Amino acid sequence: MLKISNLKASIDNKEILKGFSMEVKPGEVHAIMGPNGTGKSTLANIITGRDNYDISEGSIHFLDENLLELDPDERARLGIFLAFQYPVEIPGVTTTNFMKAAINERRKHHGEEPMKAGDFLKMMKEKMKLVDIDQKFMSRSLNEGFSGGEKKRNEIFQMAMLEPKLAILDETDSGLDIDALKIVSNGVNQLRNKDNAFIVITHYQRLLDYIVPDFVHVMYDGRIVKSGDKELAKELEAKGYDWIKEEIGV
Ligand code: ADP
Ligand code: MG
Repeated sequence: MLKISNLKASIDNKEILKGFSMEVKPGEVHAIMGPNGTGKSTLANIITGRDNYDISEGSIHFLDENLLELDPDERARLGIFLAFQYPVEIPGVTTTNFMKAAINERRKHHGEEPMKAGDFLKMMKEKMKLVDIDQKFMSRSLNEGFSGGEKKRNEIFQMAMLEPKLAILDETDSGLDIDALKIVSNGVNQLRNKDNAFIVITHYQRLLDYIVPDFVHVMYDGRIVKSGDKELAKELEAKGYDWIKEEIGV
């Protein structure tokens, strides 16, 4: 589904990704862990098409398309979704209208008519229930004045509405209390199926108790330096990152 090969990317002449490679197949959940500043969000931004990076080497293919040649909206229509680490507030645009525009754009891309109002509302209700979001958020401006946890939940709500093929969650767990964490994880688990895939970026093992990954990768200094299964996340929690630095000799 997704194949990233030897990706090198920099911003303001500072190299952030230094030969990042990874392959994701349908049905898989990959966790990416690693210290602050190792390029996890940069990776997520580059997959989804934020354009202020210089890509000097490497490639990203998604469902046989060369992603690096596509605009962010084209990538989104192909089924890529990013739950932001820092969700943006959009005053004046309600969550409902935002979702309606996003869904109907994608339908247009697939040659379908806009969704009927009744069907759309039914779907909204269903998905709101999934992440336990109150109806009142739907008529408020997107994320405006939402608490940190509410913003994160709203990201997962959007994901549930759009049913992406590949969803990237960038530290969705940070700022969530344990109840919200369970709700968010439950939402992800209900959306998981054999045809979609998730990349879950997190600092904490705790999230991976609920969203159990097939693979855990440790990212350090712009690339993956170690991969394993969910036990690796437990080891990191217990021992920190220093032993990995020793292992790779930095
Ligand atoms: P992570 O998500 O792993 O904490 P990031 O991808 O956010 O790491 O950042 C990786 C590095 O890139 C950091 O050193 C960060 O300061 C730097 N960086 C990110 N965005 C910019 C930018 N716009 N200009 C300069 N440096 C940046
Ligand atoms: Mg980050």
